Amino acid sequence: MTAMDTNDMLTATQLVIEEALQKLGYGQDMIDLLKEPMRLLTVRIPIRMDDGTTRVFIGYRSQHNDAVGPTKGGVRFHPDVNEIEVKALSIWMSIKCGIANLPYGGGKGGIICDPRKMSFRELERLSRGYVRAISQIVGPTKDIPAPDVMTNSQIMAWMMDEYSRIREFDSPGFITGKPLVLGGSLGRESATARGVAIMIDEALRKKGIPLSNARVVIQGFGNAGSYLAQFMYEAGAKVIGISDVNAALYNENGLDIEDLMDRRDSFGTVTNLFKDTISNEELLSLDCDILVPAAIENQITADNADNIRAKIIVEAANGPTTLEATRIVTDRGILLVPDVLASAGGVIVSYFEWVQNNQGYYWSEAEVDMKLREMMVRGFNQVYELHQSRKVNMRLAAYMVGVRKMAEAVRFRGWV
Ligand code: GLU
Repeated sequence: MTAMDTNDMLTATQLVIEEALQKLGYGQDMIDLLKEPMRLLTVRIPIRMDDGTTRVFIGYRSQHNDAVGPTKGGVRFHPDVNEIEVKALSIWMSIKCGIANLPYGGGKGGIICDPRKMSFRELERLSRGYVRAISQIVGPTKDIPAPDVMTNSQIMAWMMDEYSRIREFDSPGFITGKPLVLGGSLGRESATARGVAIMIDEALRKKGIPLSNARVVIQGFGNAGSYLAQFMYEAGAKVIGISDVNAALYNENGLDIEDLMDRRDSFGTVTNLFKDTISNEELLSLDCDILVPAAIENQITADNADNIRAKIIVEAANGPTTLEATRIVTDRGILLVPDVLASAGGVIVSYFEWVQNNQGYYWSEAEVDMKLREMMVRGFNQVYELHQSRKVNMRLAAYMVGVRKMAEAVRFRGWV
């Protein structure tokens, strides 16, 4: 991704926030406050590598706004992480938390690194170093990190352990997405995909298409993409295309998802095991009922939006469709379920995990699933109704629902 793309991402988010706040009747003071994060910390983390050399990594933590409650959001490990991206992602987290009506504002963190090229111990030292570097501004009642792109429950475990050592008390509520034995929640690992599957159910109902035999294309085979493929397969839908960072697989009769799940590596790479592949660009333009971008930002743009042949787009990744492309696909009658709504399952179950940590009382998976469905369906209905009643696209409707509570909290606190 180029610097230009990331700049656009933040600018686009700011445009939508501004429009949403205006439509809700707020003035320039509220827009000035909420269009940027209230706090951004940049840290340099020196790490001893396995070969004895020291490398200095750069990390960030962005906190959008804490009027509603502590900030919340993942930490990504990726070579393209940068300040502007982290800022935009933290704003999106606020909107997600707002739509789901969680008692949080948005946060996001990241480290510029390539975990695929680091050893297990190097990753441990980096995870711990990051927590030491940001420890002053995070905590169970301040800002609660979680997994994101290329981070997982093991990394959360190291981070939680480091934080507990610094504070000298057991702090499971400091971070979510932990392994079960350290206070993780049942259902957290597959939560984003579970939430996307619930959104697919709702969107299909609006379009009058039955799920059995619906043709699904999923871009990305990481945490969200692979679990979603499995859920769709189990529900009797036909997953006709999937992709990873290298290429895509296509079979009009449906791919063997169980086999692909067995053979994927921990970063979701699987297409390298096949000769007969298509490109990611070809994947996006396949004729299908549901297209799920579940990889990274800026995949559906003004350049390819006209080629999309799906009836429904459900965004499991953060920011996969640009604003211009949102307009094009909406005008073409494609129902778009935007990222800030569709991918909220992860942070919703993170919230459940934090609640369970605070209570010291743990729920069954059925309870987690039931409460997740309730929250996602309520969010979908609110966004869809606003989209219809105010005649705004689904993304703007989602922002209006998502920012409303935060703006009200800011008002009550007397900040603006
Ligand atoms: N990183 C995930 C997201 O973008 C989850 C955040 C969380 O669980 O706090 O929504």
